[in-house]
Amino acid sequence: MASNNNKHFIVKYLECKHNYVARSNGYELDGCGEFCPTSAPETLESFICVACRCHRNFHRKVEVEVEDGVESPILSINHPSYGQM
Ligand SMILES: [Zn+2]
Repeated sequence: MASNNNKHFIVKYLECKHNYVARSNGYELDGCGEFCPTSAPETLESFICVACRCHRNFHRKVEVEVEDGVESPILSINHPSYGQM
């Protein structure tokens, strides 16, 4: 693979997959759409999402290609097309 530009991958953590009703055959998520760290990196708290209070491991991990510090659109996210109501 040629590396003649500044593309590289960063890891992002998207929607929370924590199932709150796993014991009752159901499936209910908290609706958290993206992991938001609570505090500065390198602390235990930074692995807890500020929105849903779940550990980062519950969030879907994706690799995002970035070029020159600009994030590419994430194509793998399933979301309705906003602005087309
Ligand atoms: Zn969350």
